[in-house]
Formats: sequence, C-alpha cells, structure tokens
Amino acid sequence: MKDATRIIELGRDPEQQHGLVNPPLYRGSTVLFPSLAALREASAAPLRADRYYGRYGTPTTAALEQTVAALEGAEAGIAVCSGLAAIAIVLSALAEPGDEVLVVDCVYGPTRAFCERELSHRQVQVRYLSAAAGADEVRAALTPRTRLVFLESPGSLSFEMQDVPAIVALARQAGIVTVMDNTWATPLGFRAAAAGVDVVIHAATKYLVGHADAMLGVICTRASLYPSIKRTAVRFGQCPGAEEAQLGLRGLRTLAVRLERHARTAQTLMHWLAAQPEVVAIRSPAWPADPGHGRWQRDFTAASGLFAVQLGPLPEVALAVLVDGLAHFGLGFSWGGYESLVLPVELAGQRALGEPPPGPLLRFHAGLEAEEDLLADLAAGFARLRRARAARG
Ligand SMILES: *Cc1c(COP(=O)(O)O)cnc(C)c1O
Repeated sequence: MKDATRIIELGRDPEQQHGLVNPPLYRGSTVLFPSLAALREASAAPLRADRYYGRYGTPTTAALEQTVAALEGAEAGIAVCSGLAAIAIVLSALAEPGDEVLVVDCVYGPTRAFCERELSHRQVQVRYLSAAAGADEVRAALTPRTRLVFLESPGSLSFEMQDVPAIVALARQAGIVTVMDNTWATPLGFRAAAAGVDVVIHAATKYLVGHADAMLGVICTRASLYPSIKRTAVRFGQCPGAEEAQLGLRGLRTLAVRLERHARTAQTLMHWLAAQPEVVAIRSPAWPADPGHGRWQRDFTAASGLFAVQLGPLPEVALAVLVDGLAHFGLGFSWGGYESLVLPVELAGQRALGEPPPGPLLRFHAGLEAEEDLLADLAAGFARLRRARAARG
C-alpha cells in the first residue's frame, strides 16, 4: 500500500466505533479497573497495560501514536504536548551525566538552548557538528563517552542537509544512538525510522496538525528505546491534550494532498524569487542549485513548503516596507498550517562553528492559497521595496 492510502486507513476501525469513520475523542484522567487483580496487574507494568491513567495515554493518543509510527516505519510512538517537549524528553531520557552528545550546528534554536542550558546542568557535554556533516566528521568527533548524535536535516532556518544514511550506518557500528528532528519533511517526505534513525521527532504542531490550531509532538522509536523515553515523558508529567491528539489525527488524513500542494507552490515562489535582483540565493534542499539538493534527491521522496531566501544588504526600514505590506503572507512563528507566512531570520549567535550563512534571510512558508495571488503579493512587495529605495536615493 502507498503512504497516501495508509495515512487514510491507519489508526481507525469503524467497526469498533459504531460504524463512524473517525475514532472518538476520549477525554479522561481516571481509568477504572474491573477488579483489584486487574489494577495490580496494570500497576506492575503500566507501560504494557492497555489501560492505566490519563497521563499514560488514551485510545485517542494511541491511535495517533500508532499512525505516525507506522508511517515512519518505527515500532512505537509517543505523543507529547509539543515538538519541543518531544526534544527535551528524548534528550533527557538518553543522555546521562558524563555522556557527550553531538548536535548539528543548524538545530532548531530552542533545541540548542535546551542542550546548552539543561543538558549542561546535567553534566552532559554538548559538541557541535557542522550543518552539512557527513560520516567522516562524526567519526572524527566520536569519543568513548559519545552517547548520541542529534540530526536535523534540512536544518532550521538555513536548510543544510546532513548525510543521514552514512551517519546512521556509522552510528550503528559505533553503538551510539541517532536522533533526528524530521519536522520539515514529515514521514511522507522522509521515512527516517525506516532509514535506520533510532529516534525520530516530529513537531506535529506544523504539518501533521496542519491548521495552525494545536501544539503537539510525536516521538517515534524502536521497541528497545521506548520504555526509557516513555517513562521520562511520564515522569516529567508530559502528555498531549485530548483535543490536540484528535486534531493531529485529523490533520494527518489530508497530509499527502496538502504536502504536495505546499511543495509545488514553494517551487513556484522560489522560481519567481530567484529571478529578482535583490535575491542572492535560495535556501532549500528542493532547489536544484542548493548544496543539499543531491542528498535530498537521493534520500527524500518529497519536499514541503518551507524555504528561505538570502537578500542583499537591506536596511530594516526597507525590509519593513517589503514585509509589512504583504497581504497573504502573515508575519509570525511556526509554519505547516494552511496559510502562507514570512519571517525575517536572525542567525547571529546561532552557530557554534564559524559564521552563520550570510543574511538577511527571509523565511517563507508557502500555504495553500492560489499561486497567482501569492506571486502578485510578492511582486507588489518587491515593487514597494524598489520605490522606497529609489525615493531615498
Ligand atoms: C517548531 C519546531 C519545533 C518545536 O515544535 P513546537 O511544537 O513549536 O514546540 C521543533 N523542531 C522544529 C524543526 C520546528 O520547526
């Protein structure tokens, strides 16, 4: 079965739900046991019990977890309250005092902050790999204390690609765990777990929910790593809201069609932007001239709608003239919803190894609007920018 079909059929069983197409939304804290013996048995092994307590999960969270895990090709899923919670839980579960973790230099800013503020307090040493790292660089960085490698490909804001298959193969040989933030591609663009990544993280807030109306994270992993990660989530008191889990499951059903459209519109916008004299470079692995394009073509099956453009030197007022007048591109954080977004990106102070890619960078999310309207909006924006520059001489 193709993913586009599986995503429709996974995680629901109409016969079990009175013929209704969708599984119900279970709200709940207390779960009742039919007998003392059943309560004792569940308490002895809560992670294996089919019912225990709301924080451990409900049939709604289980349906979401099973669906995302199956799409990834992973053995187990763990839903939590946000993408960042997923990251914090995985790193807390796997890195012990005295361990070293290798983190790519292009990770999502709050992941970097968690590593530097929280892991260092736990005596975990954080070392960085370059954003386009391959296996040789990881091999050279390994020490007997290296516990895990944290990848994000393409990288947040700057879109560099790592050589994920080669790093996975090396890590397996070396006995270290690979973790990857796979939010950009979704499981439909890159089946990271099937490619051998041990722990895959999705900020489901983005494309899986897909409508900018919920915060949600999903961790996909092997059966062997599941208990320690799940126990950590439970110990931290982390669980998704019932409604959010349901919105994630609902969003997933249309992910295949949405992603195709996001990616196609992004290509159209990138083509138009690349032809503007103010644009120095396009940053997206789906863009043929991008340095990561070869790895993306080799490893991924689809793109998504998020990319950035590097502009020539531009004063803040000129940037404001361009951005503030856009009618269809909202100015705000996050992405993956149905709507187009724009965000000026600040990379200063966000790189441990050398200089960040030059800016100013503008990040775009191509939404589901008609391409013609988005192109006209951009054309008007660049015309405003040129008029403003001409007026100031
Ligand atoms: C947004 C994002 C996160 C965090 O997700 P939240 O649900 O906002 O906490 C993590 N990783 C990447 C790559 C993201 O873009």
